[in-house]
Amino acid sequence: MNIILFGPPGAGKGTQAQFIVKKHNYFQLSTGNLLRNEVKLNTELGSEIEELISNGKFVSDEIVNKLLKQSITNLKFRDRIIFDGYPRNVEQAINLEIILNEFNQSIGHTIFLNVSRDIIEKRIMGRMTCDICNMTLNAYFNKKEIELHPCGAEHLKKRKDDNLEVVIARYDTYMTATKPVLDFYIKNSNFTEIDGADEIGQITNKINDILKV
Ligand SMILES: [Zn+2]
Repeated sequence: MNIILFGPPGAGKGTQAQFIVKKHNYFQLSTGNLLRNEVKLNTELGSEIEELISNGKFVSDEIVNKLLKQSITNLKFRDRIIFDGYPRNVEQAINLEIILNEFNQSIGHTIFLNVSRDIIEKRIMGRMTCDICNMTLNAYFNKKEIELHPCGAEHLKKRKDDNLEVVIARYDTYMTATKPVLDFYIKNSNFTEIDGADEIGQITNKINDILKV
């Protein structure tokens, strides 16, 4: 069944998507990938896209829809698409439903990997790297591991990270833009919210359980 995976930057969506692709043999569909692939294939549409992008112009919904249809009708991916970063607005969500219906498919699960702003901040601010073995731990989430670190806790050092503001801004933008799309899907029984603050393995298990149903 097809899946939509939502999640703000920093929630670990990429890691989980990769996992689903490998374990359940899915095709990960993001519009970025679709566009890049088409350019690589050197098709007529591909060169049109290349020209738009190199001129700093937006690729129209019409082109994106054409590419979406190509993937949805590709028998190799039938009912095994994981939509990543799409749909981005309600219009696209409605459009996706229309295309899927047209080809007798649907969305089996909508998964929202949610994580709070506070956790994202702590993940960045708390990052510590060992200057001997390069292991990365987090001052907020790995207190015990830091205490027991074989090289000695004093070798774990925080690095100044100027990324925080950028990451938080991206997070806020994503959450604001995605809210209406989530509201569109949240009423469906196949909508699941997963706590992105959990450990990666725990999240993976939860996703596995969802996909088994
Ligand atoms: Zn170390």
